[in-house]
Amino acid sequence: NADTALYRAKDLGRNNFQFYSSSMNARALERMAMESSLRRMFERQELRVHYQPQVGLQSGRITGLEGLVRWEHPVGNMIAPSVFVPLAEETGLIVPMGEWVLQAGCYQLKTWLDAGFAPMRLGINVSAHQLQKSDFAELVMQVLKECDLPPHYLNLEITETVIMHNMNEAFETLRRLRAVGITISIDDFGTGFSSLSYLKDLPADHLKIDRAFVQNLPFGNNEANIARHIIEMAHGLNLKVIAEGVENQAQLDFLREAGCDEIQGFLVSRPLAAEDITEILTNDEMLLNFEEDKTCGKD
Ligand code: C2E
Ligand code: MG
Ligand code: MG
Ligand code: MG
Repeated sequence: NADTALYRAKDLGRNNFQFYSSSMNARALERMAMESSLRRMFERQELRVHYQPQVGLQSGRITGLEGLVRWEHPVGNMIAPSVFVPLAEETGLIVPMGEWVLQAGCYQLKTWLDAGFAPMRLGINVSAHQLQKSDFAELVMQVLKECDLPPHYLNLEITETVIMHNMNEAFETLRRLRAVGITISIDDFGTGFSSLSYLKDLPADHLKIDRAFVQNLPFGNNEANIARHIIEMAHGLNLKVIAEGVENQAQLDFLREAGCDEIQGFLVSRPLAAEDITEILTNDEMLLNFEEDKTCGKD
């Protein structure tokens, strides 16, 4: 709100504050204040990674964890990525931020694996700026080496919009990453307004159905048809399907029936701090309990 915007804007210095307050609206002020504290966030070590489980619909067990960045702002509480990731993208700060998340996530997964927990993937979101860097693949491999984490544990989540941005180069980078064993997920699938033609050569392993197509399942007739056909198409292209934003049992039942491979969403768990994930892993909790079907096969 405007009060905190003005309060934060004071950080920018008295002169700036006086100048801008008369010529800019509160929203612009807030933006500037956000940007400057975003820049200081690194020094202050205010970034966190939370982890959200992805669960196999055959086994009911954790197959992967998606790392999601959080900003623990000293004034407010946790600030959601929807607030600061877009700003970080605009300012280019997403590059060091993304690198930090990758590093922190890889160290954390290594710690879990070393503790003897069952193998699982780490999903890391990659922004357009990162993928565009010519040394992105090298950087990722360097981080894996530093963490002593075998590449097949790492799964990079990339939206179709990011891939379409510079398709030939993006495909080339994805191929290099896959060649060493890193897996690729297409994130937010279906929301990118992109042509389906890119799918035929897509160097990817998983497709994540966006929450928008999951939300009204199984009741929305269109959503149900779209979801079914995305799953069928993905399998035809040799991609595994992960449904995002699964919040209730009815959605789960539909997706399972439709042959979806994995789900992620509040029904299973919210994104959690590492120590809470450790607790789940330690208790070896089955995150999904299937009532009728006990013939738990493999994923
Ligand atoms: P995303 O990659 O599609 O991540 C899934 C988002 O859906 C997360 O939001 C997660 O908390 C939320 N979610 C999961 N299950 C449910 C559910 O059942 N219901 C609802 N309503 N929401 C659910 P979050 O953590 O706020 O992140 C939002 C977006 O910010 C991410 O979307 C991703 O695009 C971006 N983001 C997060 N961390 C990073 C990062 O480290 N780097 C980059 N470049 N982007 C990131
Ligand atoms: Mg994601
Ligand atoms: Mg997503
Ligand atoms: Mg999404």
